[in-house]
Amino acid sequence: MGRSLTGSRCLHCGTVAFPPARGCQSCGRHSQAPLQLGGHGTVWGFTVQRFAPKSPPYVAPEGGFVPFAVGYVELPEGVKVEAVLDCTDFAELDDAAEVTLVAAEPVPRFATAQALAARGAVT
Ligand SMILES: [Zn+2]
Repeated sequence: MGRSLTGSRCLHCGTVAFPPARGCQSCGRHSQAPLQLGGHGTVWGFTVQRFAPKSPPYVAPEGGFVPFAVGYVELPEGVKVEAVLDCTDFAELDDAAEVTLVAAEPVPRFATAQALAARGAVT
């Protein structure tokens, strides 16, 4: 599937969830419909992972572990998605930086404009 995330939306009260919810976090009802989430959002908060996560399941990139950012991206649909955040400098992620979805699997991954530009330069 392409670069989009599928969440869920409560048919009763409209609460959006990601990952898709079986029961609504807000009203508790089980009437949920799939909802395609947009590929752009803003960084709501993040932290820098400065040591390699337990492996498995973590797979170190070729060349070894490098610190990376993980955080929450707030989408226009009103849901926060936990994601890996690609950047060229962690300072780019401050002040509700705008980020773009670049992968949905195995975990959501968003990139800053600077990271997208750097990525474009090498492909
Ligand atoms: Zn609900």
